[in-house]
Amino acid sequence: MNNQNSGTLYVVATPIGNLGDMSQRAVDVLKQVDVIAAEDTRHSGRLLQHFVINTPTIAVHEHNEVKIAAELIARLEQGESIALISDAGTPLVSDPGYHLIRMAGDAGIQVTPIPGACAAITALSASGLPSDRFSFEGFLPAKSTARKSTLEKLIHETGTLIFYETPHRIVESLADMTAIFGEEREAVMARELTKKFETIKRAPLGEILSFVKDDNDQQKGEFVILIHGAEKQPDTGEDMQELQRILKILLEKVSLKEAVAIAVEITGLKKNQVYEQAVALKEKNSLE
Ligand code: SAM
Repeated sequence: MNNQNSGTLYVVATPIGNLGDMSQRAVDVLKQVDVIAAEDTRHSGRLLQHFVINTPTIAVHEHNEVKIAAELIARLEQGESIALISDAGTPLVSDPGYHLIRMAGDAGIQVTPIPGACAAITALSASGLPSDRFSFEGFLPAKSTARKSTLEKLIHETGTLIFYETPHRIVESLADMTAIFGEEREAVMARELTKKFETIKRAPLGEILSFVKDDNDQQKGEFVILIHGAEKQPDTGEDMQELQRILKILLEKVSLKEAVAIAVEITGLKKNQVYEQAVALKEKNSLE
């Protein structure tokens, strides 16, 4: 139940580079609240100055979040309104705020999101990789052994994988991704989104690695790396039965080629596997 006398906690997304992506609603809320809780008050100062927002700020970062959250909850309970922002993009997405939002919800305080930019979603939207299922993995571990073991656990994941990466680890991370997923796995490097040197490149991982490694300029800025999910294998009897059921229906109504194309779309299985099954079924049917 919401606490009627308390203020609202707004979770406000800010641009990931291009200030033109700031929404009018974000500006209005930041002007109207009693205080802005910012990851880095100096960094956010530039954004606030640009939009002539004179609201006082308070720092909420990784190291003080739990302590400051209690203070902010008390202020909200006294009726103040607070906006949470991060250095860029959507708060809580690889950024602080989780404890604060959770505590506010537990205290019956209204939490209102003001949506806007998020590097992961911005990259996905222009990547050309499947977007029906995706998994946001954030930053990989800094050390190669831990990074490789994290990547190994994702090897069979069939949804698109999304990672954040920093310029000083981009080459190492791409090298580990190539070693684990293979040179041929399709990937996208989305660099400096919404900024002057925005680069979005879709290619097999091996090619992306060379492209970044061979050009110092491509190692600068901020990165989102997206990796095509693994091809689904019909490794269970259940998958195979379902594929055969779908193909049987389709083969009665459309050509072999069309049946294969539709079944691939429905099941997400590899085309050649679906084709083999379709041919086998067709042969079986003609013998019966
Ligand atoms: N909360 C932010 C969001 O909503 O995307 C992410 C914050 S996280 C600390 C910073 C990371 O996001 C960067 O290291 C980079 O991987 C990614 N990122 C942020 N801005 C970006 C941009 N303009 N282009 C590409 N990646 C970006």
